[in-house]
Parts: sequence; structure tokens; C-alpha cells
Amino acid sequence: MLKDVEEVVFSEAQIQERIKKLCEEIADAYEKKPVLLVGILKGCLFFMADLMRKLDIPVAIDFISVSSYGPSTEKTGAVKILKDLDTPIQDKHVLIIEDVVDTGLTLGYLLRNLKERSPASLQVCSLLDKPDYRIVGIPLQFKGFELGKKFVVGYGLDYQGKYRHLPFIASLKKEICPL
Ligand code: 5GP
Repeated sequence: MLKDVEEVVFSEAQIQERIKKLCEEIADAYEKKPVLLVGILKGCLFFMADLMRKLDIPVAIDFISVSSYGPSTEKTGAVKILKDLDTPIQDKHVLIIEDVVDTGLTLGYLLRNLKERSPASLQVCSLLDKPDYRIVGIPLQFKGFELGKKFVVGYGLDYQGKYRHLPFIASLKKEICPL
């Protein structure tokens, strides 16, 4: 797997350091109010686990899984819920935990869908933000890192189901991943 890596974009240490700061920002914003972290499967896996262990406010968790809109080149905006939340979110402070906001189509759909369930508040925390590809404007209250026009894997992010387990975020060699 390591032989497929072109460049480490964010190291393990950089990610952990940024998450520590992010947790301080989140704790300040919520002022000890209990928060429901809603992870978007599967990319949120490590980010959510590391974030919640460093957050000094009461948290509960739930997960939602949505279909991607097809091959990454196809940006149709069609999103389907594959696994819905287990619990109602009415009157709860909900913080969506996402791996990457790219076009914003996935989150745009999810925000509209979750807003209809009347949460007390609804905000977004994404590890990565790729503003260059944005189609739908997304209010991103908390973000880890900005990334340019790069496709990355590792720390929960996959390419064709692989590379999620890498402890860092990396780009792949062009012959492995032409994106
Ligand atoms: P959006 O709907 O914002 O275009 O896409 C969000 C989803 O696309 C992310 O949750 C992620 O699954 C996928 N995605 C976007 N950029 C990347 C990337 O650089 N690497 C990987 N592995 N997935 C990405």
C-alpha cells in the first residue's frame, strides 16, 4: 500500500495537532451544551473517533450513510440515504462530522434533509475542505484543513475501497489513481 503513495499531504502528527485545536473551537462554540455528533459513513471513521475523544463537552453519537452520486466525475447531485439515523434529532444540537466537502452536493442534500427534523441547531465539521470544486454553497462552521485540486486517501478516505487504514492523508501515484 505504501508503495502506491505519491506524497503524504497531512501527516499523523499534523492531523492530531489540528484536531486538538478544532476541539477547542468546538467546545468554545457549544459552551458545555450536549451535542449529537452525526458521522457520515464511512469516511468519518477515524476523524470522528479522534475528535470525540478530545472533546471536552458531553457528546452522543449517531451515523448516517448516503450513496455517492456515481463515479467521481459524475456530479449529478442525486443522493440517497442508505442508512438513516437511529434516533430523532428534534431539539438536539447536531454537529455533522464529514471527511471531505468537495462539490457540496452530499452535504447540501443532508443539511436540507436534517433541517426538516427540527434540530435545536445544525452545524458542520469537516476534516477537509476542497473549495475549488464547490457547486453548492455549504456553511462550514468547523474545518480541519483546506486542500487544493487533489484527490487524497487515508485516515478513513478510500479509493475503490482501499487505503482507508493509512494513518496519514496522502495522494496516490497517477498510475494507481488517475483522479
Ligand atoms: P461532495 O458531495 O462534497 O462532492 O463529496 C463529498 C464526498 O466525496 C466525500 O464524503 C468523499 O466520500 C468523496 N470525496 C471527495 N473528495 C475526496 C477525496 O479527495 N478523496 C476521497 N477518498 N474521497 C473524496
